[in-house]
Amino acid sequence: MSDELSLLREEIGALKKKRNAIILAHNYQRDEVQAIADYTGDSLELSRTAATVDCDIIVFCGVHFMAESAAILSPDKIVLLPEAGATCPMAEMIEVDADRRVWRTFPGYAIQPSFVFPHDFTLKDIKKQYPGTPVVAYVNTTAEVKAESDICCTSANVVKVIESLPDEKVICIPDRNLSMWAQKSTKKQIIAWDGFCHVHDRVTRQDVLDARNKYPAAALMAHPECRLEVLELADYVTSTSGMLRFAKASPAKEFIVGTELGLMYRLKEDNPCKTFHPLRADMICPNMKKTTLKSIMNALSNMEKIIKVPAEIRIPAKMALDRMLDLK
Ligand code: SF4
Repeated sequence: MSDELSLLREEIGALKKKRNAIILAHNYQRDEVQAIADYTGDSLELSRTAATVDCDIIVFCGVHFMAESAAILSPDKIVLLPEAGATCPMAEMIEVDADRRVWRTFPGYAIQPSFVFPHDFTLKDIKKQYPGTPVVAYVNTTAEVKAESDICCTSANVVKVIESLPDEKVICIPDRNLSMWAQKSTKKQIIAWDGFCHVHDRVTRQDVLDARNKYPAAALMAHPECRLEVLELADYVTSTSGMLRFAKASPAKEFIVGTELGLMYRLKEDNPCKTFHPLRADMICPNMKKTTLKSIMNALSNMEKIIKVPAEIRIPAKMALDRMLDLK
């Protein structure tokens, strides 16, 4: 480790003590950030852990909606997002109101007939079009969108959440790929939003065939944010936490990893005798890589950027999260 890195680590350690802070790092963060974190994991896992830890400050190394979730679940703690510009393009694909609408078009994507593709819609528009239909919000949404939703879901529990609802029709936001994956396992009608994660959505069927060809003995794990054509060819479709568990428990010695490459750090740390290959070498989320040791040090030293969720959003957003967390 370079002198500069070890100096930064020391300074962060001292600031953490002084401020009674903990550092959370999402599984997609840079290796050196994951290495100094008190906890690593997926966004909800981290926020839930932070709520139970005795500390005054949570430094959330991830993207904006994740820090918001931590602030929702830990209203008495100060949540810092080291890089103010670290946002999630997928979370930004859905807005509650028209005046804040940010919408993009997605040409060339296979449309399934029962799906709605609201290229010029907001969440309120679609709720008006389907009155009384519950909204299931993936945790990768802003606090404001969660507050306008009935229940949250993760990539691991989306089907369970949908099945828990009494309605035969549900609106799923914002990831079309997660919705299509869930639609395979439920008879209920899913009305899907046309959002996507650009990191996972770029993977194609051909990438899977090429990777299989190159590593014929490897087990292929894919995240449900990948396209259906990819998921249908995977050996195991699961969340990042699911991949960590699967890689550890599997007798396979070699794996193809269909998610953001930051997960490789934990996979390799946890399984030093196993080999991991990326499904595509460019599965890198630039927003997740914005946070560096320097930005963590600055955040702790200057107490920036504090993420606050006002009570009128926090309370209904927490209700949507709690409904999911209460599912047995
Ligand atoms: S990896 Fe995808 S879902 Fe995660 S923050 Fe980046 S763009 Fe958003």
